[in-house]
Amino acid sequence: MPEEITTHSAEETIRWGREFAKRLKAPVLVLLAGDLGTGKTTLTKGIVSGLGAAKEDEVTSPTFTLVHVYASPSSKVYHADLYRIESFHDFETLGMEDLFATPSIAILEWSERFPLESPWPQVRVRLEHLGGDARRISVL
Ligand code: ADP
Ligand code: MG
Repeated sequence: MPEEITTHSAEETIRWGREFAKRLKAPVLVLLAGDLGTGKTTLTKGIVSGLGAAKEDEVTSPTFTLVHVYASPSSKVYHADLYRIESFHDFETLGMEDLFATPSIAILEWSERFPLESPWPQVRVRLEHLGGDARRISVL
């Protein structure tokens, strides 16, 4: 699977996310970085559905709720948006306190906001606008 691709629609990003999900095994942090509207939530729809944890249209932005939790056949899947969170301390006290208790798959939008103190392996994915509906997705 290529480490850097360009997609041309939300559907294509979702499809790529489903494939990408196959390489994820708990415990892991999936750190999504990229500007507003680059497709972090859209990509998460693909990842979460690829993990068998929810249907893609059940995956919505956790911007206000901060975290959504799904159950895949093998582990919990967390989807959080750190946009409104100030620090790792806030992250831990705003519903994520049990996140690191059991091995899970945690997908974090705006993960570049503050360093995460976790011993779990991390996979970084960067999304960029290329104009129109084109997006570059890079696994770092
Ligand atoms: P973010 O979570 O990064 O703010 P969203 O996934 O919420 O971004 O929004 C991305 C928007 O861009 C959606 O409206 C989606 O339909 C649209 N879009 C257009 N082209 C693409 C693409 N190639 N990949 C992902 N989203 C795309
Ligand atoms: Mg989002």
